[in-house]
Amino acid sequence: MTEKVIIIRYAEIHLKGKNRGFFERLFTVNLERCLKGLRHELRRTSGRYLVEKFDEERIEEIEERIANVFGVHSYSVGLKTESELDSIFECALLVCPEEGTFKVETHRGNKRFPLTSMEVNAEIGGRLLSARPQLKVDVHTPKSYVYVDIRENQTALVFGEFKKGRGGMPVGASGKGLLLISGGIDSPVAGYMMAKRGMQVDYLHFHSYPHTNELAKEKVISLAKQIAKFTNTYRLTTISVTKIQEEIHAKCAPELNVTLLRRFMFRLSERLAKKRGAQCLITGESLGQVASQTIEGMTSSNAVVTLPVLRPLVGFDKDEIIEISRNIGTYEISVEPYEDCCTVFLPDFPAIKPKLSFIESEEKKLDVEWLVEDALSTIEVITY
Ligand code: ATP
Ligand code: MG
Repeated sequence: MTEKVIIIRYAEIHLKGKNRGFFERLFTVNLERCLKGLRHELRRTSGRYLVEKFDEERIEEIEERIANVFGVHSYSVGLKTESELDSIFECALLVCPEEGTFKVETHRGNKRFPLTSMEVNAEIGGRLLSARPQLKVDVHTPKSYVYVDIRENQTALVFGEFKKGRGGMPVGASGKGLLLISGGIDSPVAGYMMAKRGMQVDYLHFHSYPHTNELAKEKVISLAKQIAKFTNTYRLTTISVTKIQEEIHAKCAPELNVTLLRRFMFRLSERLAKKRGAQCLITGESLGQVASQTIEGMTSSNAVVTLPVLRPLVGFDKDEIIEISRNIGTYEISVEPYEDCCTVFLPDFPAIKPKLSFIESEEKKLDVEWLVEDALSTIEVITY
């Protein structure tokens, strides 16, 4: 019996030695989760996964979901059949185009199969040539391929194409981080990058209601939803920094507004991260992009926390970040015009290389601990 299947190959997991079982189980859970609500059976066979018994009318949706799971190196839509030449040839006819150059490439997982890989190539290639006179063999640069994978259990897989997955590692394999997510272009990309390396990402957003409006919050929720495709996180926490911003504005040197606010953001993030069991903070900062993202600016925010701060975009140019944001579908949302809390009370000349001693003396004018506690009382959790 021949049936349509999707063959999934995983990336990097094989490198993990003794942890391999853990990675594979996690990968299975993530694949199952991505296929939730769609009829299917998922099976692990040596070195790859097979999706079977799915609704063929929904194949595009299934493919899209699989392509977005981190850890998927490549996948192919193909046919599963008996491992004997007639069935393999029937499938090859379905996979191979009517004309043009082609090549058959066989892989033998089952070494007891009576023919060698080369012999299968020759046999199936020969039969295809007689069935379709418009075809021509080209072993170097063929236009199309017919891949034959002869498996254990008397089965063979036949497919024509390797489609690229996103690579990376299964989400959940690399601990947990708290992403400081704004409505901008960078932070959603930063979250995506960490999830790609297997990190489970929780989100925190700071707002300055009523200086920023509901639409700004909606925008962040849309961004969080869009990256949920990859991160599998369906929860956003928000904290109000209105009072903090007003206090800074009223009492401190205006050129330090952003610097001081960022230190509060980091303190609040660390408090929440520890509550949530997150092991690090993640931001979308990129070296030198704006006044607060100099090494001095980063040092001043790092100084108030002990958790590591991961900045996966630190060495990226803006256009490289934009390219990724387009690819993951966040760009269109990020460029909507709603105001972020950082832009409220923005000074005309923010300090580019603030001295820690100056920052600390200005900060002494504030009741830092009280402001932090007060802000923490505004926590809201939004699930979607
Ligand atoms: P983004 O495009 O991510 O908004 P940006 O280039 O606008 O970044 P900043 O506004 O300086 O840069 O913010 C730097 C980082 O600080 C952001 O990438 C994000 O991680 C964090 N951040 C900024 N504003 C907020 C906010 N309102 N809530 C949560 N995190 C924020
Ligand atoms: Mg921003």
